[in-house]
Amino acid sequence: MDKRAHNFNAGPAALPLPVLEEIKENFLNFHGSGMSITEISHRSSLFDEVIDDAIGRARRLLNLGDDYHVLFIQGGASLQFCMIPMNLTLPGRPVNYISTGIWSIKAIKEAEIQGKDVRVIATSEDRDFSYIPTDYTVDKQASYLHFTSNNTIVGTQWGQFPDGRGVPLISDMSSDIMSRPIDVRPFGLIYAGAQKNLGPSGVAMVIIREDMLKRVPDDLPTMLKYTTVRDNKSLFNTPPTFAIYAIGLVLAWLEETIGGLKEMERINKEKASLIYGLIDNSEIYHGIAELKSRSMMNVTFRLPDERLEQRFLTEAIKSGIHGLKGHRSIGGCRASLYNAVTIDSVRTLVEFMRGFEERSV
Ligand SMILES: *Cc1c(COP(=O)(O)O)cnc(C)c1O
Repeated sequence: MDKRAHNFNAGPAALPLPVLEEIKENFLNFHGSGMSITEISHRSSLFDEVIDDAIGRARRLLNLGDDYHVLFIQGGASLQFCMIPMNLTLPGRPVNYISTGIWSIKAIKEAEIQGKDVRVIATSEDRDFSYIPTDYTVDKQASYLHFTSNNTIVGTQWGQFPDGRGVPLISDMSSDIMSRPIDVRPFGLIYAGAQKNLGPSGVAMVIIREDMLKRVPDDLPTMLKYTTVRDNKSLFNTPPTFAIYAIGLVLAWLEETIGGLKEMERINKEKASLIYGLIDNSEIYHGIAELKSRSMMNVTFRLPDERLEQRFLTEAIKSGIHGLKGHRSIGGCRASLYNAVTIDSVRTLVEFMRGFEERSV
């Protein structure tokens, strides 16, 4: 194969081509060591530099103050669903969740399993999670307010984050971390599985504020305590060294090639508006998410019937366009436009969609 695919996969997803080329170039002889990154000790000074560089870049990109820690934890975003209530519930106090789809529901379930006083203060389930709720009241007593910033499956995204009214926010940002600048100060914790916007799968980036660490109960298993990860600089046991290395390269690309999150957001907006513009003027493509809640990262749409949808997906692949099949739970189509998806790929997709519509009506 001599040609790269136009990759709209939902996750694991596209990585920036310059990052893949750098990995390839240096793989057999990492920094003159005569070994690959996967063959060196996680306790070596070479790996120390790798992890410090990745953390430093995350700090700069998100403008994190000294009171925030950047951690790498295995188990993906899904392990965070249980670690959060386990570590951060204040004794005798409720936890608040806003439910905007499957990932929120999974997070809620893990808090319920632990017998926490879970209060779902808003849900968009009444209209199949096609929108972001705006009507909710946060418990003054709540330990935290958890929400999913971007709903990867149905294609909705919080434009403006919920107001915790002093209650620390916790967000699953798996599918939109580093896609736009954010003000982290209302957040006690932000987490993201790496395989959408950060790098290879197998690790989550967790950004946690110092004061939250004081809540961690002494009697948790060692591996499940945020304090263990913090005290050991994410090196309590052998971490996914390759994934952390690749995340560092992606963040370097974001900082140096793209020029930061403001510029990344501008590009992401342009990409999303190219596809939404087409959908809004189309006879055959119908957006799934409600207008005001649409995601910049995951554009979801349906065609008039499943037969046409199937033809659409098959012809797309023949044109070198991959990953457009919607999540099995809702069907339809989805184009994931994560940071690494180029505007050229998006233009190719839009041209294909326009051509398909002309051939179909
Ligand atoms: C993909 C995804 C997850 C699951 O991530 P894992 O790393 O597979 O556990 C959780 N939340 C959101 C919003 C996602 O997009």
